[in-house]
Amino acid sequence: MWRAIGLDEPVASPQLDPSSSVEGKGNQDGRQREWSCGRLKFRTDFDSGNLGDVIPCTKEGEYDLWVRPDCSGQACETKHRTWFYFGVSGQSANEVVSFNVVNMNKQAKLYSFDMRPVYFTPGSTEQWLPTSDPVRHQAVNSGFKISFSHRFESARETFFAFCIPFSCTDNERLMATVQKHAEQRDDLYFCREILGYSKHGRPIDLLTITSKGGMLDSAEAPLSYPCVDRGDAARAFDPKKKIFVVTSRVHPGETPATHVFNGFLGFLLQRDDERAIKLREKFVFKLIPIVNPDGVSFGHYRSDSQGQNLNRFYDDPKPDLHPETFAVKSLIMYYFGKGSLEVCIDLHAHANRMGSFAYCNHLSSQQQIDTIMYTKLVAMNCPYFDFRSCSFSERNMSIKDKNGESKEGSNRVALYRSTNLVHIYTIETNYSCASLTTAVTDATDGTKTLSPGYKVQSRKKFTVDSFGQIGKALLVGMLDVREWNPYSRLKSSEFKNMQILRNWASSYINASVLSKKFKSLSALSPKKSSVAAAATDKPLPKPRRSSISAARGDGGGENKKERRKSIFDQNKELIRAMSLENRERRRSIALQNEAEKDKRAVGGDKSVSDKLNVQRLELDGVETNENIKAVRWF
Ligand SMILES: [Zn+2]
Repeated sequence: MWRAIGLDEPVASPQLDPSSSVEGKGNQDGRQREWSCGRLKFRTDFDSGNLGDVIPCTKEGEYDLWVRPDCSGQACETKHRTWFYFGVSGQSANEVVSFNVVNMNKQAKLYSFDMRPVYFTPGSTEQWLPTSDPVRHQAVNSGFKISFSHRFESARETFFAFCIPFSCTDNERLMATVQKHAEQRDDLYFCREILGYSKHGRPIDLLTITSKGGMLDSAEAPLSYPCVDRGDAARAFDPKKKIFVVTSRVHPGETPATHVFNGFLGFLLQRDDERAIKLREKFVFKLIPIVNPDGVSFGHYRSDSQGQNLNRFYDDPKPDLHPETFAVKSLIMYYFGKGSLEVCIDLHAHANRMGSFAYCNHLSSQQQIDTIMYTKLVAMNCPYFDFRSCSFSERNMSIKDKNGESKEGSNRVALYRSTNLVHIYTIETNYSCASLTTAVTDATDGTKTLSPGYKVQSRKKFTVDSFGQIGKALLVGMLDVREWNPYSRLKSSEFKNMQILRNWASSYINASVLSKKFKSLSALSPKKSSVAAAATDKPLPKPRRSSISAARGDGGGENKKERRKSIFDQNKELIRAMSLENRERRRSIALQNEAEKDKRAVGGDKSVSDKLNVQRLELDGVETNENIKAVRWF
C-alpha cells in the first residue's frame, strides 16, 4: 500500500519496535515497571505499556498478571482494566510459558469470538501475530480472567498485547515518514501541523491532504483557543472544496481505530488510483490520528490522564479540562463557520458486536436516507463492514453509559447538535472478528472488471490489512454517494443505480418505523415477536403472524386472508425492502454453505482451503491472505 504512494525508503514497520520506544512523558509516576521472576523478566517501561503486577504461580512456568486500571493510584483511578502490553525476556527458545491475566474487565463476548492476545518478537517475527492456542476465560469474583500459553520461538525479548498496538512513538515514526515523502510530491498538497496539546503537553497531530486545486494564497486563520500557536497553519482552500474530518483514538486502547485510520490514510495518498485522485480533487481532508495521546502513552484503555472519557465532553469542552476535545471541536466548528464542513468520522473499536459498523444520528427521513445510503455503499465496497449492524436509533443519541455519562457528549451527537450536519458517524470495529456476511460485487467499466469483488466467507479474524480495507471503503463509499466513483460497484449490484438505492433506503426507514409500531403493539401480546426484538437497531425484520395479529389488535379469527392482504397492501414498501434484504441474506447463506462444502471436499487440507480462501478474497488485485502475509508499510 505504502510503496504505491512513493514511500520507497525502507523503514521498519512503525508498530513493530516497542523495545526502542521512549518512556512517555508524564509516565514517571513511581510505579513498578519491571519484575524479575526467576529467570524471566517482565517490563512495561515503554510507550503504551500496561501491566500492574506479576506473581509466579506455584506451578512452574505459569504467571499471574495484573492490569493497571486507567489512572492507577490516583484519586481519579477508574475501573477500566482491559488494555495490557508488556515484554518478557530471559526465557529459552521453545520454552512454553502460561499467563493468567486475572483482573480484567468482563470481556466474555470478545473471547467467545476466539479473541487472542498478540505477540511480537523483534528480529524474529515480522509482524504481530495472535498466540497459537485459544484463550481460556472465566468470570472471577467481580472481574474476569483470561489464560493463555505461548511457546517462545527464540530467546529474544517478546512483547504481548491485548490487541495489535500502536503507540504515540509508532505514530510519530509513521507521521514523520509520511510527511517527509508526501511534502515532496507535486501532485498533492500535504501539511502536518500541531492542532493542540494534551493535558500533559503531548502534541496532537493534524494532517491536511488534498489536491492543489482551489488553494488560496493565505494560510488558515488561527483557531480561537489559547493552547495552539498555529504558526505553520495549513494553506486555506476555496470553501467550495469541502472538508472531510477523521478523528481516531479518543479511546486509547481501541487500536483497531488506528489500523482503520492508517488504511484510510494509505489509500488517500495513492498516487495513481483514480479514486484517490478524485477524492483529493473534491475534498480537503483534515486527519487527526490520535486525539488522546496521554491515554495512549500511559497504556490506558478508555480514559485521558484525568480519568475522563473525552468522548463525553464534545458538547461543552473546556480548554483547561479537556484541551484535546476542545481543540478538535474548535477545528470542526471553524470549518463549519466557513460553510465548508461536509463529513466527520470518528473511529473506535467495539468489544461486543462482530465486524465493523456505524453509529449514525437519528435524522429526518430525507437526511436519514443519505446516511443509510452512505453506510450501505461502504458495505457494498467492503466485506468487513456490516450494514445490518449499523444503528440509526434515536435512543442511541442520548443513552447513558455505566458511568452515567450520556452520548449527548460524544463526538457524533454533540457535533450534530452544533452543526446539523448529515454525514457524522462513529465507526466501530470489533477487536477480533469480521462477520463477513457481506458479498461485494465486481467494479466494472461496463466491459471489463476493474476491481474484483469478494464472495462471502465464514467468520474471519481481523488483521492490520483487513482493518485498513475498512478505512479505504469509508472513502470509496463517499465517492459513490456523490456519484464520483469511476469504478463504482453499484452497477453490478442488485441496486443498479442510485435511484433504486435511494428508494430502498426510503423503504428501509419505513420498515424501521413500522417495526417500532409492531414493537409497541406486540408488547400487548403474550407472544414476543421477533419483529419487536429486532426493532430499531436492526431494521428490516421479518414480520411474523403473531406480530401481524398484534398489529391488528386481536388474536386472529375469520377472514384471515382478507386481513393479511389489507396489511400487506398497506406495507408494500416494507415488504419490498424485506425481500431485497432477504434475498441478500439467502445468497450469503448459500455462499457460506458453498465455502463450507469446499472445505469439506478438500478433506481439511489446510493448504488447499487457504488457497480457496485467497481466491475468494481478492481485492483490487491485492493479495489478502492476511494471516500469512507480513505487514509491509513501505
Ligand atoms: Zn470507543
